[in-house]
Amino acid sequence: MYRLRRLRKSQALRDSAAQTHLSLSNLVMPYFVREGRKMRQPVSAMPGVFRFSQDELLKEVEQLRRAGISSLILFGVSGEKDDSGANAYSENGLIQKMVRALKKNFGDELAVITDVCLCGYTKHGHCGVIEKSHKVTKSQSRQIKIDNNKTINILAKIALSHARAGADIVAPSSMMDGQVQAIREGLDKNGFSQTAIMGYSAKFASNFYGPFREAAGSGMKFGNRKSYQMDFRNSDEALREIELDIQEGADIVMVKPALAYLDIIAKAKENFAIPLAAFNVSGEYAMVKAYAQSVEAEKELAIEILTSIKRAGADIIISYWAKDLGQWLKT
Ligand SMILES: [Zn+2]
Repeated sequence: MYRLRRLRKSQALRDSAAQTHLSLSNLVMPYFVREGRKMRQPVSAMPGVFRFSQDELLKEVEQLRRAGISSLILFGVSGEKDDSGANAYSENGLIQKMVRALKKNFGDELAVITDVCLCGYTKHGHCGVIEKSHKVTKSQSRQIKIDNNKTINILAKIALSHARAGADIVAPSSMMDGQVQAIREGLDKNGFSQTAIMGYSAKFASNFYGPFREAAGSGMKFGNRKSYQMDFRNSDEALREIELDIQEGADIVMVKPALAYLDIIAKAKENFAIPLAAFNVSGEYAMVKAYAQSVEAEKELAIEILTSIKRAGADIIISYWAKDLGQWLKT
């Protein structure tokens, strides 16, 4: 008889044989930011998640650092929307101001990542510019036509404005073809060859993003995102997306969402020697919040989920539990 239970006999034995360990240094905390002062606005679809004004964000990040987390990613909740998302690259835009304030207060002790997309800044809520010739109707079934090349030029401008403000890593999430290359060229041409790019390389058109859209005010007014985000029935295509992002100059590649896509994370890890990030998204977080009957239960679930994402092969995990985990693991 093979007695695999021998090593499960005590906590000490189980710990000594454990193969996967969560590390706080690999966790990235997402933050939603908005204009105003003294704002710490709860997001109803995501208990424990808030939209912060600059003053409150600085206090919050102080706590984040104390919890042992040193990376964050910013999402702007903008009130200034138009058809092409021009406010996203304004020098005094929301994200640009936040990045400058964070860098002034925390310097290089904090890694600041910025999400680069149009959906939080366009009236229609899509991640790109809608083709001029395309007459938009209210119909949900109408296929949206996004102008790829026009969009990547705007993404390059947004990324450059974030780099100028001091962002360490820019993270294009719009799923336009050629977005990483356009951003790399724009950064290099303007003296920002040291700003890194984290590509949302394999970002699936997922039903797990619902709570995020409420948080970021980035819901679509019509149509869906299936003409640019990936079809969840495909995995070869995910590997092609990742491979292309690497060729275009990405420093980190990402799979999003994480929990229903552990196979993609595992394949990406097997195939590419590059830091791999996974986004443990809003729906994954909200499901646990709805199910867990106590903080202890939530903690155990969160640790199991995050460990499984790491075991699948993710090096970096973006998670709304990052700060909680830091606090839980310390106590
Ligand atoms: Zn977007």
